[in-house]
Amino acid sequence: GLSLLGLHHVFDGIPVVHDVTVHVAPGEILCLLGPSGCGKTTTLRLIAGLEPPSGGRVVLNGRQLSRPGSIIPPERRGVGFLFQDFALFPHLNVADNVGFGLSKSDPARAHKIQSLLQQVGMASHSMAWPHQLSGGQQQRVALARALAPEPGLMLLDEPFSGLDKRLRDQVRDETLRVLKESNVCTVMVTHDPEEALLMADRIAIMQAGHVVQIGTPTELYDTPATPFVAAFFGDIN
Ligand code: ATP
Repeated sequence: GLSLLGLHHVFDGIPVVHDVTVHVAPGEILCLLGPSGCGKTTTLRLIAGLEPPSGGRVVLNGRQLSRPGSIIPPERRGVGFLFQDFALFPHLNVADNVGFGLSKSDPARAHKIQSLLQQVGMASHSMAWPHQLSGGQQQRVALARALAPEPGLMLLDEPFSGLDKRLRDQVRDETLRVLKESNVCTVMVTHDPEEALLMADRIAIMQAGHVVQIGTPTELYDTPATPFVAAFFGDIN
């Protein structure tokens, strides 16, 4: 699994991620939930290796990925990314997008691509170009591409926010199913409490760089630790 150990980050002298310690088990989905500016995206960037932490460590399956002054670059972490703006390569068809992270000499390459496309319901579109697909279809292909190299960790940042409401619900449910089938450790950033309640095994609520409460959706919804947490779920019924 993934361990964040006293993860800390300072921008211009101001701590924006404050001593975050969290463990995520293999196959578990952890949602980082909180209002704009609370430090969710920065935490994800620290896990991704896009930013070296000011303090603390990131450890994945026993391998130290980040500590102050020393980080393994994102492309060598065995991490899959699904970001809102992490678009498909426009000059590659669907199959080649999915196969991008796989070795060309891998004899199982074509089979892997096809079975991933099957899994996300896009098997009949393997020769299509990204611009011929709807936003929801593109996001399914992006999920297949991220999972192709069999990452030890998936990082999702507001992956459905570019989609309209009906499509968003559908792609969210499919993404959840595929992540669970893959049994991959996942950290997802969202500002949407409903999305977190529906997808997460556990939710970490962030406020001003701190994790103020972490627990299952039921625990947080039923027994919020602070008025801030209660207010965050207040709009949902
Ligand atoms: P949002 O949902 O709006 O993206 P967030 O919870 O993801 O918010 P972050 O993007 O992690 O929050 O930002 C946390 C704080 O760090 C904010 O106050 C932000 O202004 C600041 N910040 C983020 N990136 C930088 C940067 N590169 N340089 C300086 N300050 C930054």
